[in-house]
Amino acid sequence: MSIVISIANQKGGVGKTTTAVNLAASIAAAERSCLLIDCDPQGNATTGMGIDRSGLFAGTYDLLFDDAPPAETVVQTYLPALSVVPADERLIGAEVEIASVPGKEFKLRNSLERLFADYEYVLLDCPPSLGYLTINAMTAAAGVLVPLQCEYYALEGLSQLLKTIKAVRRRLNPDLRLQGILLTMYDKRNNLSDQVAREVRSHFAGYVYDTVIPRNVRLSEAPSHGKPVILYDIRSSGAQSYLALAKEIIRRK
Ligand code: ATP
Ligand code: MG
Repeated sequence: MSIVISIANQKGGVGKTTTAVNLAASIAAAERSCLLIDCDPQGNATTGMGIDRSGLFAGTYDLLFDDAPPAETVVQTYLPALSVVPADERLIGAEVEIASVPGKEFKLRNSLERLFADYEYVLLDCPPSLGYLTINAMTAAAGVLVPLQCEYYALEGLSQLLKTIKAVRRRLNPDLRLQGILLTMYDKRNNLSDQVAREVRSHFAGYVYDTVIPRNVRLSEAPSHGKPVILYDIRSSGAQSYLALAKEIIRRK
């Protein structure tokens, strides 16, 4: 049985994709087979893994619309244990196209059931919205990992996200739970970062990962080289923190 985690927060730029790419690579580095599925039409997880979007003829779109057998959507990466289902440009129209499809919330889940057995971990990178792409990812998952940026407005919108998780659990996927909250872009020189981190830990006791992701320029540089940070600068604090997060998640299993 695969462990399926969707990485979601409708707030933009909080570190969803950075977490999806680098956690997937770190899980693979720990020799656990991992599948990363790019559910965001922006395709940042795809390009961040060094996959050229213009050369693609299959991807997440096919999982949603049954256009190709699931196994044919999978791209092997240079990490032996890590594969990716990329977001090609057709995904841009998917949010609107899927609205009229019967069983639209279950499309991804149904396709993935045929792929899950092959991987120990499946990570889904969601777009910054609570539309059908995110709902499909939550319906297919057992847990939601919520990246939260350590800044003043971090908690804004979180209650809406938690309500959405509850609604999906009630109506579509009784197994879904909040897997954990991940504090990202933590800046130790900034008092506010520390204040936000403490506030989140007291509000959501038991749900916040021990591992905190620091603000680290290597994490923002790596995607322009088409690499997860462990292949770009393994000694950086960013790489070390995602390796620690992978360990924490594997241990918690
Ligand atoms: P979107 O909502 O648009 O999908 P996102 O939540 O996926 O955004 P990312 O793309 O992961 O967020 O990150 C937003 C920006 O912040 C990117 O430029 C990324 O490189 C940078 N970034 C993310 N995490 C860190 C970090 N810990 N340290 C420094 N830069 C970071
Ligand atoms: Mg993203």
